[in-house]
Order: sequence, then C-alpha cells, then structure tokens
Amino acid sequence: MTRSAHGEPAAADDAASRIASWQRRAGRHGLPWQHTRDPYRVWLSEIMLQQTQAATVVPYYERFLSLFPTVADLADAPQDAVLRAWAGLGYYARARNLHRCAQVLRDEHAGRFPGTAAELARLPGIGPSTAAAIAAFAYGERAPILDGNVRRVLARYFAVEGDPTAARTAQRLWEHARALIAAAPASLDMAAYTQGQMDLGATVCTRTRPDCARCPLAPDCRARIEGRQDELPTPRARRAQPLRHCWMLIAECEGRVLLERRPDTGVWGGLWTLPQFEDEAALEAVRAGLGEAGPPLALASIEHVFTHFRLRIQPLWLRVRDAAPAPADANQAWIFIGDLAAHGMPAPVARLLDGLYDGAPLLR
Ligand code: SF4
Repeated sequence: MTRSAHGEPAAADDAASRIASWQRRAGRHGLPWQHTRDPYRVWLSEIMLQQTQAATVVPYYERFLSLFPTVADLADAPQDAVLRAWAGLGYYARARNLHRCAQVLRDEHAGRFPGTAAELARLPGIGPSTAAAIAAFAYGERAPILDGNVRRVLARYFAVEGDPTAARTAQRLWEHARALIAAAPASLDMAAYTQGQMDLGATVCTRTRPDCARCPLAPDCRARIEGRQDELPTPRARRAQPLRHCWMLIAECEGRVLLERRPDTGVWGGLWTLPQFEDEAALEAVRAGLGEAGPPLALASIEHVFTHFRLRIQPLWLRVRDAAPAPADANQAWIFIGDLAAHGMPAPVARLLDGLYDGAPLLR
C-alpha cells in the first residue's frame, strides 16, 4: 500500500481506520462525555450537541447530570425542572423529547436503553444518526453516523454535489458512510472512529478554511485534490428570514410578575414567558383587565433569531397599582420576582427580566 506525506495509507479503502487512529493521536479527549460507555450519558450529550457547540454544552451537561444523575431521575422529574435546566440551550423540543424518552424508557424498557441502533431510533427524539452514535459509543456497534459535521466531511471527501440536507444527497452520503465502515477491518475501534468523524468536522474540516494539512483524509480527498473545498458541500439556497414583531408585557404588582406557560407544542413549548401580543388591540384589552396602572414604559426592543424567522420584541413594563387581579388565563400566574429563577424561560425573556430586576440570574 502506498503511503502519503502524512504517513497515512493513501488508499480510500480504509479511511475509517485512518480517522480512528487520527482521533486517538490528535482528536479531542477532554470532553466530559468522553470515555464513558453509559448510554444515558452518551445520549444526553448527543442530544445537547445537536445544533450546539461542545464548549456551550459542557456546563449544561454537567449541571443536568448533577440534577438528574440517572434516566430514572430524569423520567420522574417535573417537566418544568427539565426545561429550567435546559433554558438557554435553545431548540426546546429537544428537552421535551428528552423527558418523554426517559419516561418511555422507564415505563416500557424497565429503565434501560435498548442495545441496538435500530431499537434506539424508535425512541422519541432519537434520529438515526443519534441512535448510531449512542450504539457506537456505548456498545461498539458498527453503525454509521451522519450529523451536520460528518455530512460536510463526507461531501468533501467524496465530492458529493447537492444540498447535503436534501433527501437525495443525504441518501448518497448515508451510502458512503455505510461503505466506509463496511470497508474497514473488524477490529475498527468504533468509539474512536465515531468521535474522530465528529472531531474532524468540528476542528479540521471546518465550514470555512478547512485545515487539510492536518487531515487524515487529505491524501485521497477529492475536494482537496480538485481544489474545491470552498464549493463543497453545496451551499443551501438561502431564504430571507422574515422579521416578525410583537409586544411583551411585563406586568408587575406587589413584587410579582405576570407570566404565562406556553402550550407543550410550538415555539418555546412548555416554557414560561411574558404575555405576548401581535396586535395593539389585544394588548390594550389585557391592560384594561389589569385595573389601575401607570402608563406603560417602553424598554429597549430586543431581537431573537429562530430557525425560520427573526422576532423583534418590544417590551412594555407596567406597574399595576391595584391588588393583583386573578389571571385571565389558566396558564397565567403571578410569580414573585424572587421565584422567577425557578421557572424555565426562553433565553431572551430570562435576559430581559434579569436586566430589569438585577436579581439572581434567571439564565444559568
Ligand atoms: S482533506 Fe480537507 S477538505 Fe478533505 S476532508 Fe480533510 S479537511 Fe476536509
């Protein structure tokens, strides 16, 4: 077998072993979820790492584990406590699914994780790539992963054209991911290989300026050979993100603030937020129902970016002079300012109230 200047075999037939040995030599080793075969810890880290960078995940992961050390603790916890521990990580459907999955494991699997990627993928919130990562790390199963980072690496290595999130392109990438494992020897260290792909995508084959000189795939990477690293993967057609506007009412009375709990599905599902209005008439109706109050004070507007739109929030601060009226909605409650931190809130709302009341941080 020929050898490249990198000292790695130059043939494409064992790229998986090259990635595994590169990971052992030069990959990341200090992340708190590494070096465990506990499927609970692996699962938790994999869910948190979806759409979130490792450095951001570390403190959340450690706090989550201290609050819910086992899958049974997580299953038995109130949803509010789970959302509270998640607040600030975004994409809250992940937290709701995490909680639901723990309950399914408790109720239908005697509190144990199933032992194969195929069975894991039937659980709430666990897609095929996450299931494969859990099975590879916890059980050494020869299951391929295809998260965002790996899509980028494979699209470059094999010069796969097309939006990597489009079904047809994704299917081709899955085929390549399966073929890499099939071509590797039975002795392939699946934990190192799986971690290696993630590390390559996060630290070497980055979105801009991939560092091909450090890459174990460089000798036969088609994008590098053809000088097409900047073209691959094919960029997604960008749609303009619409800007939406709303008001949020910070109604304060006798040291309490009116909050409302969102329905379990949809944006910020299950979290506590401020009453939100898209039109002035609805806002006025609620203000009128709050009784005697001073004029609302408009605070600086804030903008929050969701996946498909941006939301410009105009906060209005209103001090209610009468005794706090009963909330008009069963999902609303007057919460003492000192107790706000015990309620899971979306990051922009927590920051807003943090700035206003300068108390215990609402966003940890
Ligand atoms: S050689 Fe360069 S472009 Fe190819 S996989 Fe490695 S870092 Fe990415």
